[in-house]
Amino acid sequence: VTLRQAQGSDTDGLVAIVTGGASGIGAAIAHRLHDDGVTVAVLDRDTSNADERFAAFTADVSDRASVDAAVAAVAERFGRIDIVVNNAGIGAQGDIAANDDDEWARVLSINVTGIARVTSAALPWLRKSPSAAVCNTASIASTTGLPQRALYSASKGAVAALTRAMAADHLREGIRVNAVNPGTADTPWVGRLLDSAADPAAERAALEARQPHGRLVSPDEVAAAVAYLVSPSAGSTTGTFIEVDGGMAQLR
Ligand code: NAD
Repeated sequence: VTLRQAQGSDTDGLVAIVTGGASGIGAAIAHRLHDDGVTVAVLDRDTSNADERFAAFTADVSDRASVDAAVAAVAERFGRIDIVVNNAGIGAQGDIAANDDDEWARVLSINVTGIARVTSAALPWLRKSPSAAVCNTASIASTTGLPQRALYSASKGAVAALTRAMAADHLREGIRVNAVNPGTADTPWVGRLLDSAADPAAERAALEARQPHGRLVSPDEVAAAVAYLVSPSAGSTTGTFIEVDGGMAQLR
């Protein structure tokens, strides 16, 4: 039992779906919400590494049937859904010419339409919750021009616009929708990119040096922002973004 659990919190007893919750930022969000007393359902296409303290539901956010089945299974198991954290996402490198149409469609289907699939499946449950909240993982790429990230940036820019549109649509239903914009975070995804470099240690040092605060963002820092945005403490906050990027967005 953690200190926060012992003290009780305003999210105690709520049920959350965390997509991409088996790795990286999503796993940190799952842990943080669990510490805050939330019952966490991890929804991931690969649940083999999901923490066994959480119920894991295998689903691909780019496949409507698998999303509908997983969200129905969460509702059946826990009887409610109060929070949806749309965090599953994949990367893409290069300029606009670097990826073919199939890859554009695949990345947008996961990073953007995936949010619509998961959240619309959960909507009937969110409408019944006294404390409904959605948080999307966007990116620094949604607000700043990152070189060699054209498709990824397009997808995350769409996540930002979608966050505002969802916030407007569901305002009167009491469903709040916000997002976080992480900078480069220390996750298995970034680890894989570094490992593909000729000298991973040197590449990591260079990447850290490019961050305004001289280090990568910790997934726990992103999780803390998400935990705030989905909690009743943020009850008057919707359609907003928290930058968790060491100040990178201010410098560009
Ligand atoms: P990660 O690769 O470590 O974890 C992503 C998780 O999402 C994995 O468990 C993966 O299985 C799951 N996933 C991927 N595609 C899926 C699909 N179609 N259906 C269901 N699950 C799927 O990545 P991460 O670094 O933790 O990134 C998480 C989110 O944060 C992504 O949306 C990413 O764009 C965003 N983000 C990451 C960084 C960073 O530097 N790591 C920065 C800004 C934003």
